[in-house]
Amino acid sequence: MSETSPKLRAELEGIPTYKPGRPAAAGGPVAYKLSSNENPYPPLPGVMESVTAAARNFNRYPDMACSGLMEELSERFAVPLAHLATGTGSVGVAQQLVQATSGPGDEVMYAWRSFEAYPIITQVSGARSVQVPLTPGDVHDLDAMADAITGRTRLIFVCNPNNPTGTVVRRAELERFLDRVPKDVLVVLDEAYREFIRDPEVPDGVELYRDRPNVCVLRTFSKAYGLAGLRVGFAIAHEPVAAALRKTAVPFGVSQLAQEAAVASLRAEDELLGRVGSLVCERNRVVEGLRSQGWTVPETQANFVWLRLGERTVAFAAACEEHGVVVRPFPGEGVRVTVGETEANDILLKVAEAFRKEG
Ligand SMILES: *Cc1c(COP(=O)(O)O)cnc(C)c1O
Repeated sequence: MSETSPKLRAELEGIPTYKPGRPAAAGGPVAYKLSSNENPYPPLPGVMESVTAAARNFNRYPDMACSGLMEELSERFAVPLAHLATGTGSVGVAQQLVQATSGPGDEVMYAWRSFEAYPIITQVSGARSVQVPLTPGDVHDLDAMADAITGRTRLIFVCNPNNPTGTVVRRAELERFLDRVPKDVLVVLDEAYREFIRDPEVPDGVELYRDRPNVCVLRTFSKAYGLAGLRVGFAIAHEPVAAALRKTAVPFGVSQLAQEAAVASLRAEDELLGRVGSLVCERNRVVEGLRSQGWTVPETQANFVWLRLGERTVAFAAACEEHGVVVRPFPGEGVRVTVGETEANDILLKVAEAFRKEG
């Protein structure tokens, strides 16, 4: 057999692989997956029904324009249809945004550490990542980001709340930042955890985008709405950007099952947001519990908490796993723990307490 392989783009060399949160090990003690920021609640019966009904037709391609979902979103957010684009999760939409704006010689900027998909989709495009360190308090350093803009900057991600730290940027600082960004640079407000925010000073990106043509808001059905497995997210942006998203979309990417589930979820929003409320209560309980044990926990507005454990990161993750809880370690940095079922959160608090006592 020949050793020669097809020529692949040089940009693909050294791309970090996306590390999915590991599932809970089979056969372990009780097993809870707190590693992917998923919604622990099972699908609502009504949502399940619309998905099983749609499943009867999966010999057919889905509605490529996602018309039903687009209508629903247009009304829900009071935005024109031409300002909307759907995709295979908001990660899919984020990848399209990079594709649409950036290539070799261009720069894509984001805070670091932030969402691990950003470096991957940037490198695939051939553009260069510009990573601006978070402040010592694990918050976006928007002044440093504005200072780092060059003539080659094409897209800036602002992850609010930030994954994996849960920290937020507030209205005044975000507006000041947006005022400093040149009008031909796209700012993507990644609001995957928007529904978990309780701090009234955190602006709704949909309000910021309205009179700013270079702002795009990313939302997803994966977290608060519990549809992670169905892959559907969307962007709200002015017409040129939304049109570019339609051009870069994989045809028929969003399945009919996903479309129907998303519509049914928007119609069952009261119930779903009630669940989000319960998760927010649990989040607050976990944060207070950890702090009362002496941990330093950054203020989180998402459905996860961040523990900056440094060299003890891997040991902590192993201790959690021993007790039946899988968390997400970032070796040498810290551990991100999703807020899950009450029993899972209780286990986390117990393990954390014992871990601190052992020093
Ligand atoms: C989970 C997450 C997403 C959404 O992912 P989907 O592709 O919609 O499942 C987007 N951005 C961030 C920061 C996330 O944590």
